[in-house]
Amino acid sequence: MLEKARELLKRVYGYDTFRPGQEDIIGGILDGSDTLAILPTGGGKSVCYQIPALTLTGTTLVISPLISLMKDQVDSLLRLGVPAAYLNSSLGAAEYREVLRGAMDGEYKLLYVAPERLDAPMFGTLSERMRIPLIAIDEAHCVSQWGHDFRPSYRQLAGWIGRMEDRPLVAAFTATATPEVSRDIADMLALRRPRIYVTGFARPNLSLSVVSGTDKKAFLSRFLTERADQSGIIYAATRKETEAVHAELLRRGIPAGKYHGGLGDAERAEAQEKFRFDDYRVMVATNAFGMGIDKPNVRFVLHWQVPGDLESYYQEAGRAGRDGEESECILLFEPQDLQVQRYLIEQGTGDDDRKAVQLSKLYAMMNFGRTERCLQQFIVDYFGEKGVEPCGKCSNCLDKSERVDRTAEAQKALSCVGRMKGKFGVTTVAKVLKGSRDKRVIQFGLDRLSTYGLLRNWPEKEIADWLYWLVAEGYLKMSEGAYPTVSLTAAALPVLEGKTSVVRRQRTSVRRSAGAAA
Ligand code: ADP
Ligand code: ZN
Repeated sequence: MLEKARELLKRVYGYDTFRPGQEDIIGGILDGSDTLAILPTGGGKSVCYQIPALTLTGTTLVISPLISLMKDQVDSLLRLGVPAAYLNSSLGAAEYREVLRGAMDGEYKLLYVAPERLDAPMFGTLSERMRIPLIAIDEAHCVSQWGHDFRPSYRQLAGWIGRMEDRPLVAAFTATATPEVSRDIADMLALRRPRIYVTGFARPNLSLSVVSGTDKKAFLSRFLTERADQSGIIYAATRKETEAVHAELLRRGIPAGKYHGGLGDAERAEAQEKFRFDDYRVMVATNAFGMGIDKPNVRFVLHWQVPGDLESYYQEAGRAGRDGEESECILLFEPQDLQVQRYLIEQGTGDDDRKAVQLSKLYAMMNFGRTERCLQQFIVDYFGEKGVEPCGKCSNCLDKSERVDRTAEAQKALSCVGRMKGKFGVTTVAKVLKGSRDKRVIQFGLDRLSTYGLLRNWPEKEIADWLYWLVAEGYLKMSEGAYPTVSLTAAALPVLEGKTSVVRRQRTSVRRSAGAAA
C-alpha cells in the first residue's frame, strides 16, 4: 500500500520523497488506525490525509475551521485532478445545494466542511447518504479546552462520529499541542487506540531571536534597512499598536500593508493579496492575519510584542521560511508587554478555569522570553518532542557573552522560596528578600524568616526579575491560577545543597538579535 502512496505522491503532487512523518502517518491510516498527528505548520499535513483519501473508497470528510484555507486546498486539489469541494458559509444557497447534491452522489474524493456548518441534521444526512471511510480533523486542538483556540462546535463532532452506524477512521491533525492537549484531543474525539505522531517541530531554516531592553523603533528601523528587499510580517498585540507601527513604516517610505479585525473584509482581502504578490513588502498585523496564508518567501516574522502563548508564537513565527530558505523570527520581549496579554486574558470571555489555563500558557511564553537555553530546543520541548540538539543559530546559541557564577544568589532566593512554602507569589517573595516593611509581609510574619532581607542591596524589581529567571531556567515553578504562587522544583535541591552551580549571562538586559548589528 505504501508503494501506492509513494506512486500517488509522485504522480499527483510531483514530489519524490515524503517529508518526515508523512509516510508513517499515511501507513498508519491505511492500516486502519485512528491517528493523532502533531505536525508543525508547513510540515505537509494535507498530503497525510489526501493520499489515504485517494486510495480509500468513498468520500473523505475534512473538518477545518479555516474557510480561506479550504478554498485554497480545494482549488489546488482540482488543479491536480482530484475531485473535491467544500461546504462553508462563503457559498451562496444555490452553490451550497449543488455541492451537497454532488456529495450525495459520491462525486468527490474529498469534502471539506466547516465545523459550524455541521449541525446534527446536516451531519446525519451526510453520514447516512455518503460513504465515508475517513474523517480528517484539521486544527484538532480546537476540541480541547486546554488548547489555545477552543471551539464548542468541535466538541459535538465526537458524539456524532461515535454514533455513526459504520464509524469511519478518524485522523486528527494539529500543529500545536502540548502533551496534555494531545491527550485531551484523543479523549475528546474518542479516538480508538490512536497512533500518535509527534514529528519535526524543529525548523532548521529559522533563526529564532529574543531581543530585550531595546528601543523598539530604532531597532525596527535598523532591522528593515538591513533587509531592504525582504518580505516580512510584523505582529503586534493590538489594533492600536498595529496602526501605529504601520504609520511608522509608511513615514519611512516602506511599502507596508496592515491587517486587523477592525478593518472591513474588502480592505483585509486587498491587503492580503498585495502582500502575497509583493506589492507590500511588509505586513503589519494582529493575530487576525495568517489563518491559511501560505506565502513561501516570508523572510522574517517580527513580533513587536509578546503574544499570549507559545502555540500562537510558533504558529505565527513559523510563517517565515515556508520555502525552506533561511529566515528570521524575532521576538521583541519586554516583560511589561506581558501585562497587555494578561489584560486580554482577564477581559476575555473564558470562564475561570479557562483563564487559569491561558495564564499558565502566558507564563510559558514569558519563560521563553527569559530563558538562556537554545530557543528552538525550548519550543520543541514544549511541544513534547525530546532529544533535539541545540540549533546553533538562535540568539541564545550565538550569545557568547560571559557567564557569571550566581550560585550564592540563587541559594538565597531558593531558600527564601522554600521557607515561604509555596504560599506566595513572586512579588511577595521579592519583598521578603528585599527586607520590605510591606503590610502583607508584616501581617504574615514574613519579616521573621531567616531569609528576610538577604538581597537587600538589590532593587526590588531586579529581585523579581531574578526570581522569574529562576522560573524560566526551571529551578522554580509557578502554580496555575489567577494568583500564581511560586515553589521549588526538583532542580532547586542540588543547588541548595551546593552540588550544582547556577550560571547566568553577564549582560542579560540587552540581547541582540542574531543578524542585526546593534
Ligand atoms: P500544513 O502542514 O501547514 O497544512 P501543507 O500540507 O499545506 O502544510 O504543506 C506545506 C507545503 O509543503 C505545501 O506547499 C506542500 O505542497 C508541500 N509539501 C507537502 N508534502 C511534501 C513533500 N513530501 N515533498 C515536498 N513538498 C511537500
Ligand atoms: Zn539555538
